[in-house]
Amino acid sequence: MTINQSGWKPAAPIAGPGDIGTTTGNRALMLEEALIFEIGDTETTGVDIAGAPAVESRLGALARSAEIGLAGLSEPETVRHYTRLSRQNYAIDLGLFPLGSCTMKHNPRLNEKMARLPGFADIHPLQPRETVQGALEVINELAFWLIDLTGMHGVAMSPKAGAHGELCGLLCIRAALEARGDAREVVLVPESAHGTNPATAAFCGYRVESIPATDAGRVDLEALKARLGPDVAAVMITNPNTCGLFEPQMKEISDAVHAAGGFVYCDGANFNAIVGKVRPGDLGIDAMHINLHKTFSTPHGGGGPGSGPVVLSEALSPFGPLPYTARTKDGVVHLIEEEQADEFSEEHFGGALQSFGRMTAFHGQMGMFTRALSYILSHGADGLKQVAEDAVLNANYVLRSLEDVLDAPFAHSGPCMHEALFSDKGFADGVSTLDLAKALIDEGFHPMTMYFPLVVHGAMLVEPTETESKAALDQFIAALRSIAERARAGDAALKSAPVHAPRRRLDETLAARKPVIAYRTPAPDGADLPTPSPVGDR
Ligand SMILES: *Cc1c(COP(=O)(O)O)cnc(C)c1O
Repeated sequence: MTINQSGWKPAAPIAGPGDIGTTTGNRALMLEEALIFEIGDTETTGVDIAGAPAVESRLGALARSAEIGLAGLSEPETVRHYTRLSRQNYAIDLGLFPLGSCTMKHNPRLNEKMARLPGFADIHPLQPRETVQGALEVINELAFWLIDLTGMHGVAMSPKAGAHGELCGLLCIRAALEARGDAREVVLVPESAHGTNPATAAFCGYRVESIPATDAGRVDLEALKARLGPDVAAVMITNPNTCGLFEPQMKEISDAVHAAGGFVYCDGANFNAIVGKVRPGDLGIDAMHINLHKTFSTPHGGGGPGSGPVVLSEALSPFGPLPYTARTKDGVVHLIEEEQADEFSEEHFGGALQSFGRMTAFHGQMGMFTRALSYILSHGADGLKQVAEDAVLNANYVLRSLEDVLDAPFAHSGPCMHEALFSDKGFADGVSTLDLAKALIDEGFHPMTMYFPLVVHGAMLVEPTETESKAALDQFIAALRSIAERARAGDAALKSAPVHAPRRRLDETLAARKPVIAYRTPAPDGADLPTPSPVGDR
């Protein structure tokens, strides 16, 4: 390999830090980085290969007519480019990630080691069953733990994320209703619900109606009861809810919904706060997804993969998706597909197959299953209970340490669960939640979840998780306290935060609405770049 001759080029001027007084645009070991097409010349390549001899093309009209336009970089230049970009990112392995509603927690390296064992990592879903008994055993063992921890009857392992699990749960509910010839049309969702809940219900063809919250941040039970009727297929409740609060009336909610002939879907994304302490099955829940990538510490963010198994009540289990695992009397774990399902469903559900179908081509996210089981077994039942206790303790420490400088709208109604919710009440005129979040970046923290849930003005939802130490929490609290004091005093400098980040404040609306996702060579005369189309250019 020969290194190309493109040589060093100064980073292109970018709207950003401005003149920081270095020749290179770098700040100490924080390196500025231009786009790959700006550093790599399309006229050069990273390797010297003799030109291909002329051959008669048989591509006809399919032959490429324009240049391919790839940036010509050598291997070390390419490696450096992406490594430099990665250093401008923030990650759970760098510091505290206080995103509420996400449970971004440390992923123990033991889980990674287990998932990389060749017997799990190198198998193929179409391999003969008898060669993958160990993998089936892992799926079955994890299924057992999920059923046991939730007090439910069955579990669908294949959904690949929380939202996919919601879809699976609602498809079970619809199949169960159709089996009794009951075409109900409405799904009730509380105001504070995660956006995926109403989206899933609408995707399944249901009409979504909203249920108000009380002043204490809980579902308004009376309003819910008043709306129940023969047209309501299901109620979707998040518990603990998105205000970080436990719904103490869950059993009454379930009883009322069942009495009206509907089903109870629980969004279990916040199971981290109650794992080992509360069994959703005891609260009358019919279906609940579990985000393995939240509660059971498998990696997430940056696009997955997630995993969202759905635990099911006795009433819904027969309608769950194929395939599922089952152990026969000879001790062998089977993967039950269509062919074997009738025979097995007789044994497991006391009747013929009523599955609504499949959620995925194969069996779900094997890598996530292995990590989650490794996490569960290394904690044990007592360790998982302590996870919930520590997650709740950490969130309450944050809540009580900051409630004198940040408005905590539901703090009067008692402790929170695993996340602490604040509002922008008390900020000086003109200072917003966004300004506070941007200032947190200058202090070296990823911002918390902002403007969610919608029931609170200028919401800030902080979820520390159980894996943060008191020292880490104290540093975070000190940073947030100082920014909150500046927000109350109306410090105008907050408006220009972040000032120390590689990029300053971006036009986020424009970036979301008109993302520029492909590079276009600037016109040779130095004219402006063409205006990108709303969906970006390809
Ligand atoms: C994260 C989350 C979801 C969606 O889960 P995904 O795995 O991102 O699809 C649904 N509801 C709540 C409350 C969540 O926090």
